[in-house]
Amino acid sequence: MVGWWRAGYALEFRAPENPMPAVEPDTGSAPGVPPMGMTESPLSGFTPYQPKKGEAYMGEPQKEHFRQILRAWRDELSAEMDRARHRMQDETVNYPDPTDRATQESEMTLELRTRDRERKLIRKIEETLDQIDSGEYGYCESCGAEIGLRRLEARPTATLCIDCKSLAEIRERQMG
Ligand SMILES: [Zn+2]
Repeated sequence: MVGWWRAGYALEFRAPENPMPAVEPDTGSAPGVPPMGMTESPLSGFTPYQPKKGEAYMGEPQKEHFRQILRAWRDELSAEMDRARHRMQDETVNYPDPTDRATQESEMTLELRTRDRERKLIRKIEETLDQIDSGEYGYCESCGAEIGLRRLEARPTATLCIDCKSLAEIRERQMG
């Protein structure tokens, strides 16, 4: 996970040509699913927020903007988990060849790890939605600074400002 925010932060915000509706029915083919993995960034089809002159940071309009991003992301993740569950049920075959069996097992392990990550992420998204309601959202939990709209759009579950995040990563690396 090291360096995820850099990738996210460097993201260019282009106005999407075909904005994805916030909630999409699970049709199986999922036309609104971005090519990028949903665990990387949810910001596809969302127009970067343009605050009005003098608008308060994390006022109601901004909160609503992030609620929509987070809910769409959560719904997309749940839909992906459902699809994966069905896929796995379909693919459970008993291969007579041990090599095939081993391949199937490692694929299964990978799949389960992905599912586990998605489950944790969904929980994190739920917690983040609670933080929006309680007014804690958007402020660094280490130094209290504003995390900023662009960083939050790239990483809506961020709880640290870019400086504290960088510092934490340096420390993490030093700890080995
Ligand atoms: Zn900070």
